[in-house]
Amino acid sequence: MARRKLVYEGKAKIMYEGPEPGTMVQYFKDDATAFNAEKKAVIDGKGVLNNRLSEFFMVGLGNIGVPTHFIKRLNMREQLIRACEIIPLEIIVRNVAAGSLSTRLGIEEGTALPRPIIEFCYKDDKLGDPLVAEEHIIAFGWASQQDLDDIVALALRVNDFLSGCMLAVGIKLVDFKIEVGRVWDNDFQRLILADEISPDSCRLWDIETGKKLDKDVFRRDLGSLTDAYTEVARRLGVLPNNSGPVTRPTLIN
Ligand code: UDP
Repeated sequence: MARRKLVYEGKAKIMYEGPEPGTMVQYFKDDATAFNAEKKAVIDGKGVLNNRLSEFFMVGLGNIGVPTHFIKRLNMREQLIRACEIIPLEIIVRNVAAGSLSTRLGIEEGTALPRPIIEFCYKDDKLGDPLVAEEHIIAFGWASQQDLDDIVALALRVNDFLSGCMLAVGIKLVDFKIEVGRVWDNDFQRLILADEISPDSCRLWDIETGKKLDKDVFRRDLGSLTDAYTEVARRLGVLPNNSGPVTRPTLIN
């Protein structure tokens, strides 16, 4: 079979042309990066876990009517997705102070926020994905006011859904990042949830112990990232409880 055409290689994923027009194949790599790619490593099995976890969340969100790019998982590392035009924003939703919010505003990590806070960062690695205001987004034409209203509504639905999923398995959803894309149905534009939802893009703390189960384990050298992500997957029922290390392919169907 002819090799698929590579469209784009990012830090944690590769995008290939899909089999039908309007589709793409999203491949999850084992590469982990942090601090705008200053820290790098290959974490055995991370891509497999994120593929499964992102599928789990996207399917669940689809089931409650949130439009997503996910079509189906193809194999251990790949999923078929709907092609869309990514809006150049990282949309961050926070329930508890952590990370850059704590640093920027001097709010102690772990402080519950009075309401979910949504922030926008402009997606540009060279600039380090700077925080931007709605004013910048509209003035520079990255998204319209209507798009932003739709993005906020979508982000809050994702927050409610993910918070509930996590709470049910003893995990606190501290914050997360999503990306949104545009698709056209004839002349009509719609926004859909794109990219991925995985412990790479969320902060997840065990409710009882506060143990971190997300990419901070890598950023802050807190232990095995694969163990942390495997724990999240097991609790959510994405991996059988008695399965061995995630790198053994026979255990992932
Ligand atoms: N995040 C992400 N990609 C980015 C930046 C942030 O997925 O390029 C996620 C991050 O994992 C966390 C949330 O967005 O769940 C908020 O991140 P924060 O702004 O605190 O930045 P950080 O402390 O990670 O630099």
